[in-house]
Amino acid sequence: MTERTIYLDRNARPSESRKITVRAYRWYASVELDRDNYVDATTTRGQEPELPSAYKEALDRVRLASTDRIWYDGYPGSFSWGEGARWITLPVQFSQVEATIQALRLAELENEYSQLHALADRLQLPVDEWLAPGERELVRGIDFQSPPQTFLNFLRGKSKHWGLRLNGRATTGSVWIRPTLLPVQKTIREMYPDRYPQWVDRWSGYVEPEDAPIRPWVGGRDQDLSHGANPIHFDDVDVSTDNDCPCGMPLRDQWDDGKAHTAHHAAWAFGIRVPKNLMWPGNLAVVTPQSPISWRKLAAKAGRMPMRENHYDFNSWSYLGEPEEAPNNDRAFLLKANEYVIGYLVGTDTNEHSRLDLLDESTSGASDDTLRPRIDLIWTAGSYRGQGIASKLVHALAEDFGCQVGDVSWSTPISDAGRQLARRLSPEGIWVS
Ligand SMILES: [Zn+2]
Repeated sequence: MTERTIYLDRNARPSESRKITVRAYRWYASVELDRDNYVDATTTRGQEPELPSAYKEALDRVRLASTDRIWYDGYPGSFSWGEGARWITLPVQFSQVEATIQALRLAELENEYSQLHALADRLQLPVDEWLAPGERELVRGIDFQSPPQTFLNFLRGKSKHWGLRLNGRATTGSVWIRPTLLPVQKTIREMYPDRYPQWVDRWSGYVEPEDAPIRPWVGGRDQDLSHGANPIHFDDVDVSTDNDCPCGMPLRDQWDDGKAHTAHHAAWAFGIRVPKNLMWPGNLAVVTPQSPISWRKLAAKAGRMPMRENHYDFNSWSYLGEPEEAPNNDRAFLLKANEYVIGYLVGTDTNEHSRLDLLDESTSGASDDTLRPRIDLIWTAGSYRGQGIASKLVHALAEDFGCQVGDVSWSTPISDAGRQLARRLSPEGIWVS
């Protein structure tokens, strides 16, 4: 199906006309009515118009019935559309595209919504009937048209939405179902009636009639291990928890089921996986702005860990363009264990330092203009902390520069963990810059 555009206002310039665009996706077509310029032209500035409520209601009915149809056809995904009067999006089956265009045209030009309602009526599936209580066999070609497994998946989605347990099985030409209400879902719906308006429990008191059909037993997990079980007791305990994970990601509002956090947390805990095609003899690599890009990318990946953990705005390693010579010998030390980068130190050479006494936390005022390597940032993977990794990295920095550990400089402000490390490495005091 080719994308096409239909202009509704014959006398207006195309740029000012309302227009309907039809886009084809794999499972359905999206009929989109663009009223953006029309709304601008017909409303006073600063007033955001609204669709008439009768129009909105008709559109909602079409959307509800139409999306159900598309799921019923086997579409496994979800839908999204905006709110408001400027854009109206209706996902519909390919066979309904013309009817949808006509119904929208009538609604727009004549404020007449009967065709939208007629479309919704035609698309409406008997979900209520399908999910009624009781053991039943629904037969393909009589009760439904989709392939049985597709139909069963659709019913499972609907049941979940209604808080039902389906107990369903697809056969070659039919599905067997026995929808029952989960006690916990009943409790939730009775606790929050405002969240479930018009919800009626049709299932709890249902008694199977004498002549109920008997589902053929085909083996498998037919045994209901919750039969006769006692319901769970629920309570509310006053608990306060951190909203931030140690890795720096928020623990609440995990919109993607926590997938992004899970991936980041694994990298934070185990370190960054070393690409298999990267030859890395030994376990320490010194990456400079002139290193091959794969190494500089690895350093940047490592740099993202402390960035997220400490909520910095910038990555401590940013050399991702062409190889370049950095003025202060900027470099990143990567330490490897178990094929992961588990330690990361960024250093640079500078010659403005002052002395910090770590015992009484005083700066002696003594300034120093010796060229020294300075630690800008150290990070150790979560699972490797407390094993002296950071201290090894400081030694590596000193050795690389050709000085003693006590000669390196620390960039301020120094974190608590950094202070503890500095105290261990140079108890008498350190250079800071
Ligand atoms: Zn985490």
